[in-house]
Amino acid sequence: MRNSKTAITFWGTRGSIPSPGKDKSKYGGNTSCVEVKLPNNQLIILDAGTGIRELGKALLHREKEVRAYIFLSHYHWDHIQGLPYFAPAYNAGNTLTILGAKHPKFPLENIFSSQMESIHFPVKSSSLSAHISFNQLSLGNHCVADTEVKIIRVNHPGINFSYALNVDGKKLVYMTDNEILPRITNAKSHIAYEREKFVRFIQGADMLIHDAQYTDREYRIKKGWGHSAWKETVKLAVEGEAKHLVLFHHDPDHSDAVIDSFLKECREQIKKQKSPMKCSGAMEGKTVTV
Ligand SMILES: [Zn+2]
Ligand SMILES: [Zn+2]
Repeated sequence: MRNSKTAITFWGTRGSIPSPGKDKSKYGGNTSCVEVKLPNNQLIILDAGTGIRELGKALLHREKEVRAYIFLSHYHWDHIQGLPYFAPAYNAGNTLTILGAKHPKFPLENIFSSQMESIHFPVKSSSLSAHISFNQLSLGNHCVADTEVKIIRVNHPGINFSYALNVDGKKLVYMTDNEILPRITNAKSHIAYEREKFVRFIQGADMLIHDAQYTDREYRIKKGWGHSAWKETVKLAVEGEAKHLVLFHHDPDHSDAVIDSFLKECREQIKKQKSPMKCSGAMEGKTVTV
């Protein structure tokens, strides 16, 4: 049966390293993983951080046969480390397609299997009985799961992709681990060009899931680490006229109370900019629709 809306469930919202704890129970401690259940019933998974473990269990419970497209933004631990714990990968009859940037030195398949070498993990990748294939992506437009997918590279150490999905005419942009540099007046500079590129890419998004890891003070200390101060994230989202901004890749040191206070300030900033944009914080276990 066809659903009318796309359901987006956050299984991992945290950046850098899992950070469980009583003070993080609202927004969650697992690293990046977002489930996108399309109206055509196809399944797209954005990143395979530790959140993918619980998603795997839910899928085995829910589906007779799991067919999923797993898009990796990049290959830092917090975006791939859950893959060996993704239970559907161990069952014959399931079909998984893993997609990510073509790396000049490391084939995607090796990136996946190397974290299951005996020095790191007790089970060999050859034990995975599901049909697993790999698709090394380049920039531009693609069609996956009968869905139009656009890709650009974002500002993060190494190669990191942002994905814009066109789901039944709705635009969903997943842009994590992106360091937005403050707007500058020199319109010819590389920084200005890159910012314009991001604004165009997110333009009119029905939902923008974006890195908002730091306060301004933290950003000053961690400049160049590839993450954004939330104020810049809000500015970019407003410039791009996104309809709903979801703050994502929460810092492992930020408690629920800290994220709540960010959100309050974000909403005030949005109001000041006279934008109708909605803003929320990605919350582990929560489903939203577009
Ligand atoms: Zn990350
Ligand atoms: Zn990263």
